[in-house]
Amino acid sequence: MLNFTKVDRNNPSKRGVMERIKDFSEVYNVFDKNKAQEQADRCIGCGDPYCHNKCPLHNIIPAWLKQTAQNDIELAFNISNETSPFPEILGRICPQDVLCEGDCTLNDTHGAITIGAVETHISETGFEQGFKPKFASEKIGKKVAVVGSGPAGISVATFLLRAGIDVDMFERASRAGGLLTYGIPGFKLDKFRVQRRIDWLVEAGMNLYTDCEIGKDKSFEELEKNYDAVFIGIGATKGKKTGISGEDNENVYLAMEFLTGIQKRNFEEENTNFIDVKDKNVVVIGGGDTAMDCVRTSIREGATTVKCLYRRDEANMPGSKKEVVNSKEEGVEFVFNVSPKSIESNGVIVEQTTMSEADESGRQSVKIVPNSDYLEEADIIILALGFEQELPSFIKESELELDRWNGLKINEKYQTSNSKIYAGGDSVRGADLAVRAAADGKVAAKFIIDNLKR
Ligand SMILES: Cc1cc2nc3c(=O)[nH]c(=O)nc-3n(C[C@H](O)[C@H](O)[C@H](O)COP(=O)(O)OP(=O)(O)OC[C@H]3O[C@@H](n4cnc5c(N)ncnc54)[C@H](O)[C@@H]3O)c2cc1C
Ligand code: SF4
Repeated sequence: MLNFTKVDRNNPSKRGVMERIKDFSEVYNVFDKNKAQEQADRCIGCGDPYCHNKCPLHNIIPAWLKQTAQNDIELAFNISNETSPFPEILGRICPQDVLCEGDCTLNDTHGAITIGAVETHISETGFEQGFKPKFASEKIGKKVAVVGSGPAGISVATFLLRAGIDVDMFERASRAGGLLTYGIPGFKLDKFRVQRRIDWLVEAGMNLYTDCEIGKDKSFEELEKNYDAVFIGIGATKGKKTGISGEDNENVYLAMEFLTGIQKRNFEEENTNFIDVKDKNVVVIGGGDTAMDCVRTSIREGATTVKCLYRRDEANMPGSKKEVVNSKEEGVEFVFNVSPKSIESNGVIVEQTTMSEADESGRQSVKIVPNSDYLEEADIIILALGFEQELPSFIKESELELDRWNGLKINEKYQTSNSKIYAGGDSVRGADLAVRAAADGKVAAKFIIDNLKR
């Protein structure tokens, strides 16, 4: 019980920098059995576990930590896979510092339990030992259409299939997985892990239709007519721009065009959008996780220099701290407190900024320093400034209610303004996190199941 006083928090080891920047394989190694047991055994088993409350999936973290510490990997695997549709993926990509680990009781004093790394260890060890996710063998004679195969779509499909409900999944891309496949780079998440989950869904009876865009290759009315319910999880991947002059220049690209082009090249898919940054000076504008993915991808693609420009200071960066550390280790240069003013053929004119005093909510605003313009030279500029909803024509035509950011409006049962149509993930929330999309899919599935089993 008091092991946390004897054993320090320990992160999984990383591959050496010079080795890892040569490829797109994962940076972090998986804990071995001893390390996972040792770290899990630091848990003090809080009566009201904050980690569980803070995890969007409400994973029963102390229970699987206890089973790991006691070396019952089968039970740990079953508990972990009960509440999560893909624990080995979220253990790798969740920003744990602002979720479960951020709220661990030990965080401020002895260092949080390495929850994500133990979660990854449990599933990967379970898979090695032949455990697989379980699905219902008997069907209840109902069928749901899932539009989009990202974390929201995979999650809703997982929980529906477990309840014996048939699923047809429609995906406009050539591969399933959404941003797990085409957005998040391989050095954070090896792609075969996403495919493995998709394969299990197909094995459980799901029909997957890739290269099938709803509203183009198949009408939405058809889905509405032929299925007992429809779930929309089409994401929000339209890149935002700054509105400054020059951002439509040919040396400027959006983060998703860049990352998707590289991923398609890595898959050896037909690819008209590949952006070659080899031997180029690259500047990425933005300070979130997508910006970190772009700078680290540019390093791996052989850019001569890679700079990240961010308008606030380092303490105010919105993304995961560990990704900033990884970027610095890999050779990315950070320029803080600069705001882009215009984009030229040879780089970005920036103005320097300072941060105001914090207001009542604790937020500091950005103030431009007068006459502080200068040129940050670059051959290629990548904008990583966030995403918004695309609003495809089938959504417009179906007259589903939208919020003012074009997100689909849902009620507390995840139903849109048409009660047969459910939605979740980024297409409802705006750009967010994979774990929140997964949680939406899980809760939506619960309401769909309640409705169809009535
Ligand atoms: C570069 C990048 C890095 C990220 N890194 C992290 C991270 O480290 N950790 C984290 O938690 N989150 C991360 N995120 C956020 C996370 O990936 C998203 O929040 C999550 O993927 C949203 O899931 P979703 O299922 O709602 O949408 P998506 O993953 O966007 O999936 C939507 C799917 O719907 C398909 N689709 C769209 N329209 C149609 C149509 N008409 N017909 C058929 N299919 C359609 C799309 O092709 C796509 O496959 C990152 C995002 C980006 C862009
Ligand atoms: S899913 Fe994410 S937030 Fe939940 S326990 Fe796993 S790493 Fe933590």
